Amino acid sequence: MTTFQIWNGLNTIGGNIVEIRTEKARVICDFGLTGIGKVIENTDGLSEMEYLIKHGFMPAIPELYDTSAFQMVKLSSVKDSSLETAIFISHLHLDHMGLLKYLPAATKVYLSEETDKLYQTLVAVGEEEESPVECITFKGNEKIEIGDIHVQPKLTDHDTIGACAFFIEAPGLKLIHSGDVRLTGYYPELVDKWVQEAADWRPDVLLLEGTSFSFEEPKESGYESETALVESWKKLLQSTMDQIIFYNPYIRNVDRLRKVSLATEECGRTFVFEESYTQLMHAFYPNETWTVLTESATSSQEQSDIKWISLAEVQQHPEHYVLQNSFKNSEMVSAFEKGIYAHSNGEPLGDYDSNYAVLLDTLAASQFEFLPIGASGHAAQEDLIRIAKKVQAKQTIPWHTFEPEKMYQRFMAEGVPAFLAEKGKVYSAAEIRHN
Ligand SMILES: [Zn+2]
Repeated sequence: MTTFQIWNGLNTIGGNIVEIRTEKARVICDFGLTGIGKVIENTDGLSEMEYLIKHGFMPAIPELYDTSAFQMVKLSSVKDSSLETAIFISHLHLDHMGLLKYLPAATKVYLSEETDKLYQTLVAVGEEEESPVECITFKGNEKIEIGDIHVQPKLTDHDTIGACAFFIEAPGLKLIHSGDVRLTGYYPELVDKWVQEAADWRPDVLLLEGTSFSFEEPKESGYESETALVESWKKLLQSTMDQIIFYNPYIRNVDRLRKVSLATEECGRTFVFEESYTQLMHAFYPNETWTVLTESATSSQEQSDIKWISLAEVQQHPEHYVLQNSFKNSEMVSAFEKGIYAHSNGEPLGDYDSNYAVLLDTLAASQFEFLPIGASGHAAQEDLIRIAKKVQAKQTIPWHTFEPEKMYQRFMAEGVPAFLAEKGKVYSAAEIRHN
């Protein structure tokens, strides 16, 4: 009998974990952290993993972990499992993959080629922790068989490269995992494509992210689209003649970093990268050359695609440059009399992170103007309704939102059959079809 079970993420943004199980196999989709990944300083003598499970940050999934050293949590170990098991990762944000590092080495983890490239490069530059699992890459649309469960990834659009939705078919069940999705990014046609394919496929269940239902209004300072963001960026450059501009991006949004750096050069300024960011750009754009700040050097390797420039050189003509800046280097603003600090969904992400206040203080001390220039990775409420209407799943289940009820009510009012799932409950395929 085919069942599915939502382990986490029904009323949180991220940490979404669903398991589809048959007698022979199981597929688990996404394996991220719930809430904000805080550093745990005291685990009460437990291993970090056991501590996370005990406190509900990580789901207590039987026969998935090596539990042999657990002291308090009673959970059957991976060695007791007879099911063919695979984990699929929709995209490389911590709330979707941050728990991979706790899995046993033999765990099979499927991710798109670009997501894997991003993962491996981030590990290489020290921006991501290594995980012992076996990473297996797929191309969009490739059919993957895990026992009697078939998974077909569909490339989609989110604010990180290589993002996917998943079409999952097991005996008696067709389920779609939307991943995180938007229609305002660089690849809306990818979303249109999988949504149309979903409609033709006639799924039983659509698990749809509902981030935008968590908020009353679109978040302040967000641009409507990635394209609008780049246009605003150009306007900023064209109207700023006499001072340095710092740019703080999110390292996993490779596409935006690329577009913004190109737009910068178009407007006559040199875009100066930190070295680790260049290594990332090099992985995706191997034939380009990059200007890199000498003070950000982390390796002594000579690379032919890098042109070095020192902070002293930038100080001589600040108006000729944009400095890509990550939080750890934010003190560099003190090298300038004044400037603009463009914050483009980089870390610290928002005021819930205590470093956010630290950043604002640092900027104020150096007469820097803080300028948010972000764009959302998530579809607007109306877009989500349109997606669900088009897909016409027998049941659409809201998740990845602080407001699943609100999303549910809106969907029902719009004539979209929706269903509020319960955390941890096992649903049979038959039951969901007749719900
Ligand atoms: Zn997410």
